[in-house]
Amino acid sequence: MLGLMQSQPLLISGLIEFAERHHGDAEIVSRRVEGDLHRYNYKDMGQRARRVAKALDGLKLAFGDRVATLAWNGYRHLELYYGVSGSGRVLHTINPRLHPDQIAWIANHAEDQVLCFDLSFLPLVQAVHARCPTIKHYIALCGADKLPADSGVPNLQSYESWIGAQSADYAWPSFDENTASSMCYTSGTTGNPKAALYSHRSSTLHAYAAALPDVMCISARDAILPVVPMFHVNAWGIPYSAALTGAKLVFPGPALDGKSIYELIEAEKVTYAAGVPTVWQMLLTHMKPAGLKFSTLKRTVIGGSACPPAMIHAFREDYGVEVLHAWGMTEMSPLGTLCTLKNKHDALPEAEKMKIRLKQGRAIYGVDMKIVDAHGDELPWDGKVFGDLHVKGPWIVREYFKGEGGDPLVGGWFPTGDVGTIDPDGYLQITDRSKDVIKSGGEWISSIDIENIAVAHPAVAMAACIGVAHPKWDERPIIAVVKKPGMEVTRDELIRFYDGKTAKWQIPDDVVFVDAIPLGATGKMLKTRLRELLKDYKLPQP
Ligand code: ADP
Repeated sequence: MLGLMQSQPLLISGLIEFAERHHGDAEIVSRRVEGDLHRYNYKDMGQRARRVAKALDGLKLAFGDRVATLAWNGYRHLELYYGVSGSGRVLHTINPRLHPDQIAWIANHAEDQVLCFDLSFLPLVQAVHARCPTIKHYIALCGADKLPADSGVPNLQSYESWIGAQSADYAWPSFDENTASSMCYTSGTTGNPKAALYSHRSSTLHAYAAALPDVMCISARDAILPVVPMFHVNAWGIPYSAALTGAKLVFPGPALDGKSIYELIEAEKVTYAAGVPTVWQMLLTHMKPAGLKFSTLKRTVIGGSACPPAMIHAFREDYGVEVLHAWGMTEMSPLGTLCTLKNKHDALPEAEKMKIRLKQGRAIYGVDMKIVDAHGDELPWDGKVFGDLHVKGPWIVREYFKGEGGDPLVGGWFPTGDVGTIDPDGYLQITDRSKDVIKSGGEWISSIDIENIAVAHPAVAMAACIGVAHPKWDERPIIAVVKKPGMEVTRDELIRFYDGKTAKWQIPDDVVFVDAIPLGATGKMLKTRLRELLKDYKLPQP
C-alpha cells in the first residue's frame, strides 16, 4: 500500500521559491570584483535567477546542457546557481586555480555551452577559449559599462545586459528530482579529473542535512560567511542551506586576505563562517599582532583538510569561537561527518572534550561509513585500528560523469581514499590520505598527527610531513616547515618539541625548512609536488 501524502519532487527551484516567499527580505551581501559591497535580498535574487533562466532559453540551451562558471563567491554566481539548475540545465563550477590546460580539458569533457566569468578571470578565458569549441557564449559577470573592449573573446556579452533584456516572468519547470543539477571535477591528483554529477534530489537532501543542529547548524538567526568557494563542491552546499533556512549570506568575492575577511565579519555582523584551515590561518595571523577580537562570530566550520588542534584552541580560547571540524569530499557533495559532542560528554573534563573535538566527527544521517582492511573486511570501531574508509548514501557518487574510471563502488560502498579510525561512539578520525600514509617498519604513521604537533610550535606557520625511503624501515617521516615571519626555531629544537607528544619511533627523522609549501587548487598542501621538490633530499646518516 502506498502512502497518501503529496508527491513533490525535490528541486533546487523549490529552495529559492521558498526563500522568496517566506524570508524574501533576508539579506545577501557581496564584496564585488569592483571592490564595493553589493546588497539585496532573497526576493531580488529570485527575480534575477528567473531572468537567468529566461536568458538561457533565449540562447536555446537544451535541458541538461552545461553552463560553466569561473567565479568568486558573490550574488551573480548565486543567481546562476538557481537560474541554471532551476531551469533544468547543469551548473558546472570550474575552479579558476586550476592550470589553463586543465580548465580547457574539463570544459571540453563537460561539453560546456556557456561560460560565465568574473572579470578577474578574463586572462584565463583569453588563454583557453580557442581550445573550447563547445562553448558558444561567453558572459562577463559585470555591467555593460565594464565589458572589456577588444578582449578577443568571441560572443562576449555582459551579464547585466544579458539578463537585463529579460523579464522575471518565468515559471520554474517541474521535472524528475533525479535530474542532474550541478557538477564539480575532483582535483585529479591522479590521472585526469573526474566529475561528480549532483542531482536536485541529492543537493536538496544535503541542504536539509547540512542545516541540522549537529551538522552546520544553520538558521534564520545566522549571518553566514562562506569563505569556502562556490567554485568547488558548491561551497559545501551553503548557498542551498541558507535559502532553505533564511540565513543572511555574506560573500567575500575575491578578497580572501585576513584583513578583508576580518573587516567583513565585523561590518556585516557575521555569526558563522566556513572555510579551509589555510584561510583561517591568514585570518588569525592578521588578528593576533593587532590584538583584534570578534564581536559577533560564534561558530566556524573548518574542513577540507585536517584542522590543526592549535587552530581549534586559538579560536576557542583566544576568540570565543566554536570550531566545528568537518570531513567530506567532492564525491560526497561534500559533507560526511561533523564534530559535535553528545549529551553524555557534558560531564567530561574540558581536556577530554577537546580530544573529541579534534576528531573529524560523527556521520550525518544519510551517510553511512565503515573502515575496512586490505581484504575489504570491516574493522572494529575501537578508535585505534586504522582502515580504509568507505561510505554510502543518497548524496554520494554512484558513478562519475561519462562513466570515467569505471565502477567506483566496492559492494555498493564508495572507497574514499582516506584512512582513519572510528571510536565506539562513532567519531571518525582521519589519519591520512591512503597515498600519504607513512609506512615505517610495518607500522603506519599518521602524517596529520606529525603535522599537528609541528604547527603547535609557536614559530611554525605551516608543516607537511612526508615519508622518504629508508633502507631498514622502508619509509621514515620528515617534516617540511615554513617558519612564521620574524620567528626562529632550529631543527633540533623542533625535533625535541616532539618529546612526550608522540611515540619515539613516530618522531620525524629530520626537519627541512622551506619558504613555502606548494598548495593545490583547493588550498590543500600538495604533497606530490613537495615530494618532487625534495626528490634529491637524503636522510641524515645516524
Ligand atoms: P579534492 O578535489 O582535492 O579531492 P576534496 O574537496 O574532494 O578535494 O577533498 C577531499 C579530501 O580532503 C578528503 O578525501 C580528505 O582526504 C581531505 N579532507 C577533507 N576534510 C578533511 C578533514 N577535516 N580532515 C582531514 N582530511 C580532510
